[in-house]
Amino acid sequence: MSNATLDWHQRAKELQLRNRLWIDGGFIDSSNGKTFSDYSPIDGRLLTEVAAGGRQDIDLAVKAARRSFEAGVWSRIPAQQRKAVLLRWADLIREHAEELALLETLDVGKPIGESLRVDVASAASCIQWYGEAIDKIYGEVGPSRTQALSLVEREPLGVIGAVVPWNYPLIISAWKLAPALAAGNSVVLKPAEQSPLSALLLGELAEIAGLPAGVLNVVPGLGPEAGAALGLHPDVVKIAFTGSNKTGRFFLKYAAESNMKQVSLELGGKSPQIVFNDLYDLDATIASISAGIYYNQGQTCNAGSLLLMQRNIADAILDGVVDAAKALHPTNPLDPDCQLGAIVSEEQLKTILSYIEQGKADGGDIVVGGQRVLEETGGTYLLPTVLDQVETSMSIYQEEIFGPVLSCVRFDTEEEALSLASATKYGLAAGIWTTDLKRAHRVSQQLRAGTVWVNTFDASDITVPFGGYKASGSGRDKSLHAFEGYTQLKTTWFDLS
Ligand code: NAD
Repeated sequence: MSNATLDWHQRAKELQLRNRLWIDGGFIDSSNGKTFSDYSPIDGRLLTEVAAGGRQDIDLAVKAARRSFEAGVWSRIPAQQRKAVLLRWADLIREHAEELALLETLDVGKPIGESLRVDVASAASCIQWYGEAIDKIYGEVGPSRTQALSLVEREPLGVIGAVVPWNYPLIISAWKLAPALAAGNSVVLKPAEQSPLSALLLGELAEIAGLPAGVLNVVPGLGPEAGAALGLHPDVVKIAFTGSNKTGRFFLKYAAESNMKQVSLELGGKSPQIVFNDLYDLDATIASISAGIYYNQGQTCNAGSLLLMQRNIADAILDGVVDAAKALHPTNPLDPDCQLGAIVSEEQLKTILSYIEQGKADGGDIVVGGQRVLEETGGTYLLPTVLDQVETSMSIYQEEIFGPVLSCVRFDTEEEALSLASATKYGLAAGIWTTDLKRAHRVSQQLRAGTVWVNTFDASDITVPFGGYKASGSGRDKSLHAFEGYTQLKTTWFDLS
């Protein structure tokens, strides 16, 4: 059945919600019986009470992971066997695509069409890609002295703790799980409390695909409890974290206070779109700038939330971006033609609205949007918002709003554009719009950002690394480079004299 003809509203009512901890190949309640409430931002209804993992549950999951790692049931089997399981897992995700997409949309309010076409599809292809890659990665023989043979091999680390946010629950989980598992590690995944549902099904599907019990455990729970317990656990050798800067700092502290585990951080962003006055296509540029900020309701780490426009083209760009915002209305995310869904929670909506208020108080001009809508539904919806007359000193310039809010600034010269683009603590991504490719390359080289898009925005696939400079973090997800983060180098020196 096509996306358009499926009755997603009806399907949502019939959906089975897994709400217990997935540990050692089975669903169990939390050891102290605690739960947390999982609400849908679509209409504010309680979806389910989810078992809240605590310190004891994390300990149970880490023990299961460590047992499986040391037994070698996954860590020491041939790469070809791990590949077969990962490929089967990717197939199962595709077979359960509608169910996974519904879970994602119910939990976080993203449009059902996007959940299906982007989130589920990308998670499956990420797992497939690492599955296909794992038996094509070779070790090295060092150019060491004669009468010696030096082998340099990559070995799995052990038990990985993966802690992920709510904005792309399936995709970001897959970015961590696929390379970690392909490399032979065991994992404890802690999904965000706003979005535990798809991760629990993901865990169960992995087991059906043939992943041995204990190799992947999924423990929902509150950040300061389950997240902290994982960060502090002495048997976890690495934390792969994606989330806010504030929580990233906690994980560095947990590591220092426990076993000095490795910590990779994928953090926030405030990505500038730099638009010069020599464009290939004004309309296409405007469409891309709009998608770059409004996709996923602006709740994207690399959202292009700062629009820097060369002065003599600024009015045309701004008019187009405002028209695009006016044409985009939030609707029920379960409607197949929904393009703008709900903000993930009341709390997040309030945060965004308070940034908008502060922006106004600081002298920013709200050109369009700025209001909550559809409140009668019980859901959390916000109009796409554009603020003009923004200055670098304002919080709406400096801070990650994580909502559909675009802050606009004008510039005259390339130097000024570069200085504006570098004026925040973040360095996740940036966009450059110009027909002058020499300039594009020159500007890209000077931008302290992990990804720079030229004449496009947010274009990507699994083959390239993704991660931040500066306060946007230190780790890299995706591509073969991600393997490096889940392995350690072992040198074996044979004396042949
Ligand atoms: P968050 O930091 O609040 O939560 C992320 C995870 O950390 C959740 O699982 C949460 O339960 C856990 N956590 C929260 N407090 C904790 C604590 N005290 N100890 C241990 N764990 C804790 O972030 P969020 O609001 O879920 O996600 C939004 C943030 O994620 C934004 O800043 C966004 O930019 C960032 N993000 C970054 C990327 C990237 O690749 N760079 C991708 C997506 C999102």
